[in-house]
Amino acid sequence: MSLTLEEARARARMLSDVSYDLALDVTRVGSFRSRVAVRFRTAGGDTFLELHRAESLEVTIDGMAVGPAYDGRRISLDGLSPGVHEVVVDARLRYVTDGEGLHTFTDPVDGERYLGGYLGLDVTQRLFACFDQLDLKGPITLSVTADPTWTVLSNGLLKTAANGRFSFATTPPIPCDAFVVVAGPFHSVRWEHRGLPMGWHARRSLAAELERDAAELRRTTEACFDHFTSIFTEPFPFDSYDQVFVPELNWGAMECPGCVTFQESMLPRERVTDDDRRHRAMVIAHEMSHMWFADLVSPVWWEDAWLNESFADYMGFEVAETAAGEKGTRVSFEAAHKPGAYLADRRRSTHPVAPAAEDVPDVDTGTTIFDAISYGKGNAVVRQLVTWLGEADFLAGVNAHLTAHRFANATLEDLLSALDAASPRDVRGWARVWLRQPGHDTIRVARRGDVPVLTRAGVRPHRFTITAYSGSLQPVGSRLVDLADEPVELPEWAGLVVVPNAHGETFARVELDPLSYDAVASELTSLADPLVRAVLWGTMLDEAAPADHLRLLARHLPREPSPTLVTAVLDRTFNHLVRRRLEPEQVGTALEVVAAACAAGDQRDEQRAVALARGLARATSDPELLRRWLGANATDQGLALDPALRWSARKRLAELGGLSAEQIETERRRDGTATGDLGAATALAARPTAEAKSAAWAAMTEDPEISVRRFRALADGLWSPAHRDLVAAYVTVAPALARRGSAFAAAVGRAFPAIPLTTAEMDLFRRALHQDMPAVLRRHWEDELDDRATARET
Ligand SMILES: [Zn+2]
Repeated sequence: MSLTLEEARARARMLSDVSYDLALDVTRVGSFRSRVAVRFRTAGGDTFLELHRAESLEVTIDGMAVGPAYDGRRISLDGLSPGVHEVVVDARLRYVTDGEGLHTFTDPVDGERYLGGYLGLDVTQRLFACFDQLDLKGPITLSVTADPTWTVLSNGLLKTAANGRFSFATTPPIPCDAFVVVAGPFHSVRWEHRGLPMGWHARRSLAAELERDAAELRRTTEACFDHFTSIFTEPFPFDSYDQVFVPELNWGAMECPGCVTFQESMLPRERVTDDDRRHRAMVIAHEMSHMWFADLVSPVWWEDAWLNESFADYMGFEVAETAAGEKGTRVSFEAAHKPGAYLADRRRSTHPVAPAAEDVPDVDTGTTIFDAISYGKGNAVVRQLVTWLGEADFLAGVNAHLTAHRFANATLEDLLSALDAASPRDVRGWARVWLRQPGHDTIRVARRGDVPVLTRAGVRPHRFTITAYSGSLQPVGSRLVDLADEPVELPEWAGLVVVPNAHGETFARVELDPLSYDAVASELTSLADPLVRAVLWGTMLDEAAPADHLRLLARHLPREPSPTLVTAVLDRTFNHLVRRRLEPEQVGTALEVVAAACAAGDQRDEQRAVALARGLARATSDPELLRRWLGANATDQGLALDPALRWSARKRLAELGGLSAEQIETERRRDGTATGDLGAATALAARPTAEAKSAAWAAMTEDPEISVRRFRALADGLWSPAHRDLVAAYVTVAPALARRGSAFAAAVGRAFPAIPLTTAEMDLFRRALHQDMPAVLRRHWEDELDDRATARET
């Protein structure tokens, strides 16, 4: 069992002034030594430290050795007298391969080893003995004994490094789950900005990629830093700012104070598209905003994780678009993130953006909070708040909040008090409907005669842009409207097409009137503004019948000028329509429609050609086309393949029966990198033979040390909709697979069969949900079942 809310509250009442002096020795392979001195003040009584599966353990309390009462997860500290105590826990722990603990990774390119303690919920206790909860913040002083030639990075600045002993400056008080340590022969780019030491780091075998992008990474970092330090009155809270591309991170990135970790997929080999750049700038801005929202001021408990994530998600997209100059980032949000938030908000698992603490009774439940509600919907709701309050009042409230709770913890109530004081509007009333209630409103366009009339079904006030167009979607006018209980008539736009929420300021389902709908269905890609097209692609595909979805795609995908929108529409088609909404026998025809639309697309622009080629490589049923591409290392239109596109083409060729195990192995060796290994695993699993499927299944289920990445790569190849007969035998339910931490449980959840399922197969999963299983696994399976059940009803 994980820590409960009740336990956390009791411990927070009892303890204060926590600090950690931590020494890690990572010189041995297999296991590492973790020695921590935990100092704290107590009101007296019984408490405990968390420590996950220590192999050997020595504990002293105030200098006296004790026979520890340890059950493999908690060290009991009973009968402590009131006052200050020091508990020293000296333990050996095993390295992990699932990213939850001290993760070990060996680079296939050069055999170099990298270690990372990336942490997160309930992970700190897999690295050292601690009071593993957000509201017992404490300063952490770290030293690491490691290979003297390595680079070791952590939250604080490196003070000294001699004879393989790396000592770091003591951090300000931080939640222990925001601790980070990264070690290995990293390649580094370092500089100072406004007196603050900064750095970007990547594995040595990615040095060329890091150098290629170093100027851009530095420029974006500085632009975001200058922006945040100008809008927030609290100065940057930490003594340095490192950003590290780390192998096999389970999250996109982690906002550890002063040292942010990023997934290596954000440092691609060979080709970096404009969408890659925008996404990376968004994540850089997102994580940096967390230095204030999450690290300087932290939630008390996990129900307020949205306070971190909704704000960071909002700041990430806004700041990348405005301060970092990555135009089109808002288009990505509307096209690729918001549709998933609407979907999530209609499932049984939806919840208020700001749930009550009691709705998250333990940390295991907390693992499900990091979802499309806390990110996508929360982002949209914060944007609506900024639109509704005005940016000046919003920032005044936010700054008062940050200053009042600096280096401490705060709740939603604290934030509302600060915003309320800064604004004449009824912030609490707004929060009741927008933050405390799940679900969303519907904004409808109707007509009184020719006159468009907006109505709202629901409970929330909305402020958004509405735009009017001619029948050929030439813009006629645009204005901001407030819509609540009363309908809004637009007599000046009689007879015209109207698009509510054209710039995406609010979060609501939009239902167009027939006149507007027909014009959009016919002329969508004639519309010049990509942001409005993003909103409209989302509106048109939202709960569209499969035939309508494919009709819109066939007509407009070839003419869609924005590579961002091409990619978003294709992803939605593969990951939602094909995977969840079609009957098995409809899949082949649907893929033909997709392949034809990709092949017909205008390829003169390289960015668009890349997006279309990626779609074609996934959808084509023509093995000759893929062989030609792979032989020439270019598409028929002359676009050079990059490693990701090559592996995608090989996966599809293997799926079509055109690539043998020997050929895949040859390509894996030729590639030689970690991503090549994963690409080969996917391609091998994608082959249409019983042996290939059984080997993939065995590899996924029988190796207790399999990495999360490899597990996911194998699942990616295994579930081919075209091979239903071959994979039907593996539609079995094995929650026992999720026996490791929550990251692996999430991977098992995501490995839900990515093929259309029969009713009987769905029932199998429904029955399995009666068993005991990790919350995050249950959530993935329930969501998959809900999405498929809804799909069949519409
Ligand atoms: Zn975040």
